[in-house]
Amino acid sequence: MYDITKIREDFPILSRTVYGKPLVYLDNGATTQKPRCVVESITDEYYSVNANVHRGVHFLSQQATNLHEASRETVRKFINARSISEIVFTRGTTESINLVASTFADSQMKEGDEVIVSVMEHHSNIVSWQLQAARKGIVLKVIPMNERGELSLAEYEKLFTPRTRIVSVAHVSNVLGTINPVSELVRIAHAHNVPVLIDGAQSIPHIPVDVQALDADFYVFSGHKVYGPTGIGVLYGKEAWLDKLPPYQGGGEMIKNVSFEKTTFNELPFKFEAGTPDYIGSTALAKALDYVSAIGMEQIEAYEHGLTQYAMQRLKEVRGMRIFGEAAQKSSVISFLVGNIHHFDMGTLLDRLGIAVRTGHHCAEPLMHRLGIEGTVRASFALYNTKEEIDVLVAGIERVAKMF
Ligand code: PMP
Repeated sequence: MYDITKIREDFPILSRTVYGKPLVYLDNGATTQKPRCVVESITDEYYSVNANVHRGVHFLSQQATNLHEASRETVRKFINARSISEIVFTRGTTESINLVASTFADSQMKEGDEVIVSVMEHHSNIVSWQLQAARKGIVLKVIPMNERGELSLAEYEKLFTPRTRIVSVAHVSNVLGTINPVSELVRIAHAHNVPVLIDGAQSIPHIPVDVQALDADFYVFSGHKVYGPTGIGVLYGKEAWLDKLPPYQGGGEMIKNVSFEKTTFNELPFKFEAGTPDYIGSTALAKALDYVSAIGMEQIEAYEHGLTQYAMQRLKEVRGMRIFGEAAQKSSVISFLVGNIHHFDMGTLLDRLGIAVRTGHHCAEPLMHRLGIEGTVRASFALYNTKEEIDVLVAGIERVAKMF
């Protein structure tokens, strides 16, 4: 049974008020709130286990190392990677993409080589590649979408040329909520011998992910969007690919031997983990993954699907409502505009009613250009949101609309 009352009790922040109104937190696409077990994991580890990992002979260091490495195993299991060698801890999705873009471009791409991204990418999956394009003269190709916000597989196929080296696409759009057909995208890319990076920032909290079933070459996500702490994220990479890529940053942890003449690098995954890792964050991330696993990703997906369906139906009752993104496969993100009301005004006035939504371009300016708008209001739901909160949102929107 999906015990929403119990779930909401696990997130203390949900019972606070803002401007004297109960908080209705619908900005989960930006970051999720944290269950008590995640916050307690952070304080508990600092209070009772804190010591730098990997290098210490002493008890605390070994205990901290064990927790950190056990967390890697928790992540491995959560996304069904083959081996913990394939799980690299990073600071988040952005750093994971930059790591791959930089090392992949350096080792696998030459001037004129091409990377395929989609029109609905977050800036972190555009700019990371553009930085490499500027350095190496590589070229970005863009998968277009239809009016419903679905990528065109036929157009995608046409983008492949003998110079295509990698595809880098979002699993779920942070603006449209579209769940992209990543298995298909991977299958087509592999038919051209091209690897695929999947940006899982918006999928990991909402749908079960199996990197082997997807046959993803790289899969990246942020801890803070899946009820974990900020500052920690994951890069999954197939061992064969991670082996081929050079180190990203130099420092401690990532080396085997160092002399002034020559340095040899550590084995995977440590080759990509320069410096003291966020071992407090990794433990807390594992707690977050354990938390959602205990509820069940299938249950969360079904519950949020119900919420999204309900919200789509209720929002459409509002006069002047324009919803951006009506893909057949849609996650719990809804972007909209009402009449001529500026997204910023709508967001600001909803805030005064205790409703937290996001406004603006959502770090997806090229998508805004494609839609011919400057920005949207975005409501994004998490496992703890309710239909009652959606009713509050709809009533809030109607109230704001009357003011214009
Ligand atoms: N990709 C997508 C699809 C996202 O939604 C986000 C966060 N909004 C990111 C990448 C970047 O994540 P982070 O800021 O945690 O690195």
